[in-house]
Amino acid sequence: MAKKKICIIGGGISGTALGYNLSLYDDAEVTLYEKGRIGAGTTSKSAGTVCLFDDSLNNRYWDVRLYGFETYCKMEKEKRGSAGFDKTGTLVCALDEKDEKRIKTGIALAKSAGYTGEYITDKDRIKKILPMIDPDSIIGAGYTADDGYFDGTMISNNFASKMEANGATVIIGVGVTDIKVEGGAAVGITTSEGKQEAYDVIVDCTGPWSRFTGKMVDLEVPIWHTKAEAFFMAPSEKLDYVFPILKFPAFYALRAGNNIFICKSHLSMDLDNPMHAGQWDPDKLPERGGTDDYFIEFLFEQMEKNVPGLVDAGLSSSWLSYRAEPRDFLPIIGDTPVKNYLLATGYGGNGVIEAPAVSRDLAKYIMRGESTLLLEEWAFSRLLKK
Ligand SMILES: Cc1cc2nc3c(=O)[nH]c(=O)nc-3n(C[C@H](O)[C@H](O)[C@H](O)COP(=O)(O)OP(=O)(O)OC[C@H]3O[C@@H](n4cnc5c(N)ncnc54)[C@H](O)[C@@H]3O)c2cc1C
Repeated sequence: MAKKKICIIGGGISGTALGYNLSLYDDAEVTLYEKGRIGAGTTSKSAGTVCLFDDSLNNRYWDVRLYGFETYCKMEKEKRGSAGFDKTGTLVCALDEKDEKRIKTGIALAKSAGYTGEYITDKDRIKKILPMIDPDSIIGAGYTADDGYFDGTMISNNFASKMEANGATVIIGVGVTDIKVEGGAAVGITTSEGKQEAYDVIVDCTGPWSRFTGKMVDLEVPIWHTKAEAFFMAPSEKLDYVFPILKFPAFYALRAGNNIFICKSHLSMDLDNPMHAGQWDPDKLPERGGTDDYFIEFLFEQMEKNVPGLVDAGLSSSWLSYRAEPRDFLPIIGDTPVKNYLLATGYGGNGVIEAPAVSRDLAKYIMRGESTLLLEEWAFSRLLKK
């Protein structure tokens, strides 16, 4: 049987999840190139939260969220610790009736899938779940104890191992430096080692780098880099309770060892504000630090208002990373104007949540030509129309 030769560029959660899903087809011959290490790009800076209900992804895509969550839970069950699951639960805060309605819808959806969820207005109860919060700053909160956060780097490495076990090839430390286009179609690549290889399909999974890899085929990939500035707070007292993932519309917080990770939420970023977004070079990101006073000041204001228990915590470290965000904050998946050059990029602040469902559908499309509603909604062509 003639196999379809597929090249994946990038070994973050996007590339490895796709590689694993493609490796399940026995007529796929898959090679993944990662110029650095597996899961060491944006994925390594991720909070990895996959909450059963919050505002990070519209309830319209709730099945995407559920599929992601359950994929990682199964991974964790197969081998304990392999997805880095920390089951902290989530407290999602409502500031107004619109938030409340959205949270209640999410709770109903979570319950329909067999999970727990409740909307709480009793302030003592909210304070019992999270003693650091000021319950007077919110009108209520959705709570589930069933979800938590995962480790994107561990998951990516797990997907990479699984795809290799299925016969795919993972090449680490080798970048793709050029893509050959003939008659409007991508036909092969050149690697950083000078090797040339022909492929039937090339899928660009390079996240914030896709601005640059797109240029290899003369394509303007319409993503912006938004600054994801994460700050690690060291509370003065050791936490003697389970700190749940805390979601406010403007920011979120979660436990990271003995520290609390805080970050401005991705949907509150303004692509037209040069402090929030721009076009930068992800290769120049420092391992640690590189953050702006603007974001920590913003987050401290939020803490003072909403989580006063964290105001006295010292800052133990911080990092800057870039999310790849299209204008509508939804990913760009599938065909592009260049035949056989596909994208699985622009995951923004939701790549961990979205990669499993997207990769399942995209692998089917690549191998069988069958599209799905999700792929149609997240197609590159939607951005050309605007
Ligand atoms: C602070 C922060 C918090 C986040 N929190 C969450 C969260 O709670 N939940 C959630 O779902 N998502 C979250 N995200 C978003 C999520 O982390 C990203 O959407 C996701 O990791 C993007 O994965 P990716 O594979 O597209 O990109 P990346 O992880 O950046 O992978 C791209 C890879 O491509 C490689 N590459 C680039 N160019 C080349 C080339 N020419 N040849 C070969 N390889 C190349 C890079 O080395 C890199 O490893 C967060 C992100 C950040 C920054």
